Amino acid sequence: MPVPQVNLVVPLYNEEQVFDQLIQRLNTVMDNSDLSIEVILIDDGSHDATPQLMEQLSYRDARYHTVFLSRNFGHQLALTAGLSVVTATDAVMVIDGDLQDPPELLPEFYNYYKEGYDVVYAVREKRKEGLLKKVAYKFFYRFMKRVSYIDIPLDSGDFSLISRRVVDQLNRMPEESRFIRGMRSWIGYKQIGV
Ligand code: UDP
Ligand code: MG
Repeated sequence: MPVPQVNLVVPLYNEEQVFDQLIQRLNTVMDNSDLSIEVILIDDGSHDATPQLMEQLSYRDARYHTVFLSRNFGHQLALTAGLSVVTATDAVMVIDGDLQDPPELLPEFYNYYKEGYDVVYAVREKRKEGLLKKVAYKFFYRFMKRVSYIDIPLDSGDFSLISRRVVDQLNRMPEESRFIRGMRSWIGYKQIGV
């Protein structure tokens, strides 16, 4: 297959319940796009049927590639593993596998990329979580802003579209304890929150 323009990188940890719905939505996004897109699914040591579902899918549909980690390493390292194997020429969309990040934003994000932005990140206006987690997230981002000399955007997660050159820089960074959204800010270039 020719090299895709865009890769979607999706870490998955025990996501069997949303897997089919996730794939349906990713398929719809890919089917409605003129871009050539391939998806990299990373199993982060799931204990449920996620790895089996991934494997079956990758046999059926050549647009899906799979990475299986030897144990649970956590979201940031699962993402790191995914980013290390991308082939896209243009950009990579990083997206959670639990459907908290809508993949349908790809065309909008890609338009910003075409306008010259290297990083297009999503900013959450609302978050469907329990109160404790909501408060914890609010506090976390505001605390980080105070203590960090890097300007990490408030209420934005890893959900983003990043250009090939930013992905290459992320892959060159040797940090073992990785905070991708912070490293993404640190790299620079033109960045925009949506
Ligand atoms: N995830 C992962 N490894 C983990 C925990 C989570 O790969 O150890 C995946 C998870 O399946 C999801 C994404 O990373 O696709 C974000 O995880 P979660 O929803 O727990 O994070 P939150 O929404 O609380 O930021
Ligand atoms: Mg989540």
